[in-house]
Amino acid sequence: MNRFEYFAPTTLKKAVDILNEKGEKAFILNGGTDIIVRMRDCLLNADCLVDIKKIDSLDKIIFQNKRVMIGGTVLLNDLGLHPIIQKKYPFLAQAALSIGSKQVRNRATCVGNICNASPLADTATPLLALDAKVHVYSAAGERTILLSDFFVFVRKTVLQHGEIVTGISFEDNDVLGIFTKTSRRKEVDLSTVCSTVIKKDDVYNISCGAVAPTPIRLEKTEAFLKGKTLTKNLIDEACLMASKEVKPISDLRATEGYRREMVKVMLRNSLLEWL
Ligand SMILES: Cc1cc2nc3c(=O)[nH]c(=O)nc-3n(C[C@H](O)[C@H](O)[C@H](O)COP(=O)(O)OP(=O)(O)OC[C@H]3O[C@@H](n4cnc5c(N)ncnc54)[C@H](O)[C@@H]3O)c2cc1C
Repeated sequence: MNRFEYFAPTTLKKAVDILNEKGEKAFILNGGTDIIVRMRDCLLNADCLVDIKKIDSLDKIIFQNKRVMIGGTVLLNDLGLHPIIQKKYPFLAQAALSIGSKQVRNRATCVGNICNASPLADTATPLLALDAKVHVYSAAGERTILLSDFFVFVRKTVLQHGEIVTGISFEDNDVLGIFTKTSRRKEVDLSTVCSTVIKKDDVYNISCGAVAPTPIRLEKTEAFLKGKTLTKNLIDEACLMASKEVKPISDLRATEGYRREMVKVMLRNSLLEWL
């Protein structure tokens, strides 16, 4: 790993000033469980890391104005073990607690998981299905981006240099949801395929990870199911549609065909819960 400068500012403004002053080779350091690995493996050449964990107020989960806000430095363990998240959004808690090991989750953050923009980011599917919004701070001010517009490609988001994600929020509603993760091992393994299905009345939000260059919503399948009463035949049709809507690749974890089959299995098992 090459040498780099390290800063740990205590305000957002200072963090943004450093990022802008140091230029394109300055990166945000959150839990470091992705970025440090990439630097070690020489996949990322950083001259400077700006650690945002000392910035006050980013480490909280806030329930306010009928929204839930997950702060920019909230740890995966703190999200997954939060009593209200466990009670109202168990599928989000399960996704957070499915990541890595206890040790990894005591460093890694939910926002880091999203900003890293891996196609298989486990907290991405529940947050996509919840229609989450990403809150961003920069020298130009603040902006909010729909999570569905946030991912561009593998490890590429719409964020510009000098922009810091201060949190991710979603409407505080009563919803039913199911998170599913398939992986080769039960613990400390990346998803071969992951998905979240949320039901609100007769509307279904369906999202999948590891089946396209970014985590995605299955909009065609959602539109097909909208307003309909679930039957076994309808579920079969929806599963077939979903398996055609995704665009997986074959890699060391699974073949394209296996992933398409798993999308069917995960959607079927989820929808059968509400038959
Ligand atoms: C052993 C191990 C197992 C793992 N298992 C899983 C797994 O099962 N599932 C899974 O999804 N991931 C897994 N991961 C990957 C990783 O732990 C997660 O993606 C983690 O949530 C990243 O969060 P972080 O805070 O460590 O991010 P960091 O590594 O600090 O940052 C990741 C990227 O996001 C950027 N970033 C971070 N925060 C912000 C912000 N606030 N604003 C703008 N940009 C920001 C950084 O600049 C960097 O590019 C694993 C990693 C390890 C080492």
